[in-house]
Amino acid sequence: MGRSKILQYAEKFCAENDIKLVTSDKTYIVHGKDKDEFAGFFFQKGNEKILGIALKAKYYRETILHEMNHALQCLEGADVWHNVYLTKAELKRFKKYGYEKDDDTTDVLNGWANNRFELDEKTLKNFSKRSLLVELDCEKRTVETCKKMLKSFKPERYMQYANAYIRSYRYLIKARTWATYTNAVDFYHGNFDEIDYLSPISAEEIKAFERTGKK
Ligand SMILES: [Zn+2]
Repeated sequence: MGRSKILQYAEKFCAENDIKLVTSDKTYIVHGKDKDEFAGFFFQKGNEKILGIALKAKYYRETILHEMNHALQCLEGADVWHNVYLTKAELKRFKKYGYEKDDDTTDVLNGWANNRFELDEKTLKNFSKRSLLVELDCEKRTVETCKKMLKSFKPERYMQYANAYIRSYRYLIKARTWATYTNAVDFYHGNFDEIDYLSPISAEEIKAFERTGKK
């Protein structure tokens, strides 16, 4: 599918599932309390579901399919999707930092990464795990979707990117900043079977994430 065809596909999907589609003409789209920049996003707040796409992002088509798979996790009521939302007790705990119903574990990790408040080790591990597992499930779905929809799709290469991205949630809680995860792509296998995703980040992985001059 070409660029505009895939956008039409997403428009149809969003219309059929009562999802609002928002786009940006840049390489990123801004989202969340901390105004962070993303290639795309999907979230539900109350009854509203919103899918965002940066039309100039490098892997625009893969990103659309990735976000549509988050939408499917939501529509299906998948456990991994429910698990990222803050529990009642967590809402009570993080309310003072501006978090509210339907905010998720990644939102809180972003607030911590932006130095707005401190988090203990146990919470960091727990939140990063929940955020990471919803991404792993989404990437597994996305590989299958891309195989079906994108002619020149290279599954092994995509899975290397996905693995670097998923592991960047473990890097985050070690380094307190998001890695340029594309630096670490060559470090990872092009499959989903050989990584213990929940293990702490190793010294070798940190090196891979912090490599400079490689995109
Ligand atoms: Zn995602």
